[in-house]
Order: sequence, then structure tokens, then C-alpha cells
Amino acid sequence: MSSEAATATGVPSYRAAPLRRSLLLNASREPLCLVGVHRAVTLVLSGKAVVLETDGRLLHSERTALPVPLVLCLTRYVHVPYRRTVPPTRRSVLQRDAHRCAYCAGPADTVDHVHPRSRGGRHEWTNVVAACSRCNHRKADRLLSEIGWHLLVTPAAPRGGPVLLAASVRPDPSWAAYLAPQVATSA
Ligand SMILES: [Zn+2]
Repeated sequence: MSSEAATATGVPSYRAAPLRRSLLLNASREPLCLVGVHRAVTLVLSGKAVVLETDGRLLHSERTALPVPLVLCLTRYVHVPYRRTVPPTRRSVLQRDAHRCAYCAGPADTVDHVHPRSRGGRHEWTNVVAACSRCNHRKADRLLSEIGWHLLVTPAAPRGGPVLLAASVRPDPSWAAYLAPQVATSA
């Protein structure tokens, strides 16, 4: 049982709603962290945050009905003194790329170094992509230019990486637009 289920005065009861996490964004729309529903509701009721995404359901109390917050945004910018970085691991890269192969868009379960490590490629966010084992095997240690392949996405450090990886949760589909790396999708 999570502490989120603890009751507090002035906050609508949300016992009927399944316990879930809300994505909290800074006023700049930068993902900050995940909060429990109780905390999310408290932030909204105190005017410190506004609801951006909801699943349409309402949390009811005697006096209030509040949309279930899936994504909420602080009304005032909170300075974050340092940016946590998450290393690209198999898990974090697959998560960033939504388990989608960067070469064929099929289901991916491996990580490929776009510029192969054996040829000086670095293990960094901008050089790793999710890949299906078939593409990974076919590409081997060759450069894209050598085999005429193109990336379907431009790899970048994930915006919401620290948020998700710290919590180790499955992202809600409504979070996708707020967590996506700010990169252009190449044709
Ligand atoms: Zn593939």
C-alpha cells in the first residue's frame, strides 16, 4: 500500500480511481518527476499546478470534482540546480526508442551503435539506437553510408529520461509528447 493512499484534509477522495502516477512538468514544460495522484491533486487545488492531460475521469469530493491528472504543469518555474544524466543502457535506450527499431520500425530488443564502436563510435545517447536483432546483425560493424541505410529517428538524450528511469515505471501514453526527445524525425 502506497503512502499516496493516505488521506489528507481538503483533498478529494480518489479511492475510486486506480492508484497511478502523474507526470509533473516544470513551468517550462520540462519533465520534472512523477508524483502520486494525491500529490498531484494537492498541487492543483493549491494553484501550484494546472492539469494538462486527463483521462476524462473525475475525482469527486463533497465540494469538488477534479479531472484525474495524467500530466500536470507547475504554474511557476522551479529552478533545478543540476541536470541529472542517465547513461544509455540497453534498457534506457529501448525505453527512449519505445522498443522500435531505428532502421525498420519493427519491434526492437537490441541496441546498436550507429557508428560502430569497433570503428571509433562512442557509447553516447546520440550514437545508440534501438534495433531489432535482424537489422543489428545485418548492419554489423558497417557505417550507414556503406550500406545505404537511414535512421528513422535522430538519436538524442531523452528529455524525460531521469524521470522515468528513476521511477522505473511504464510510461502512460499521455506522457509521450512531453517526454519525447526534441529532435526532428528524419525521412
Ligand atoms: Zn529492424
